[in-house]
Amino acid sequence: MDIGVLKHLRSGLKTIVKDTSDYIRIFNDICKIPKESFDLEQELYLTPLLLLEIRNFAEKMDFDIVLGIAAVGLDVRFGQAEFGPEARAAIISLYRLYPEYYAQAENKNLFLSRVLKEGLHEIGHILGGDHCINNCIMKFSQTVTDIDMKPIAFCEGCREKILKSS
Ligand SMILES: [Zn+2]
Ligand SMILES: [Zn+2]
Repeated sequence: MDIGVLKHLRSGLKTIVKDTSDYIRIFNDICKIPKESFDLEQELYLTPLLLLEIRNFAEKMDFDIVLGIAAVGLDVRFGQAEFGPEARAAIISLYRLYPEYYAQAENKNLFLSRVLKEGLHEIGHILGGDHCINNCIMKFSQTVTDIDMKPIAFCEGCREKILKSS
């Protein structure tokens, strides 16, 4: 994993989730990718099994939220989070966030902004946020264009809901 990506994500999150800025920590390689999580037919990794590994790490370390960053492709488009009051684990995959994946020119800033948006979106789910139809980070993204169009910010309704739960 490119540690620069993780550092960018952390500093981006710090500017948004201000109250928790001292508590965001980076770990490289928090878990092994279980062999059985690779789906031969799709040539992608099965998200629930990876999410479980992240969940176990969160419990072992007693962390409230762990966002796993996968370099490999998942069987969900961009990421997934646990839901419900016990939610702690989420994952995003970098795989489809690179412009190169779509045969476009490399663009590091665009890539990093997508990583931050998807990371924040999944953390929003852990904190009790649902998909939202406003111009909001919790808007569901079907494509990278959808990611690029949405702001790195919660709308007022989501902010209220998420702050209440945290
Ligand atoms: Zn979502
Ligand atoms: Zn919203």
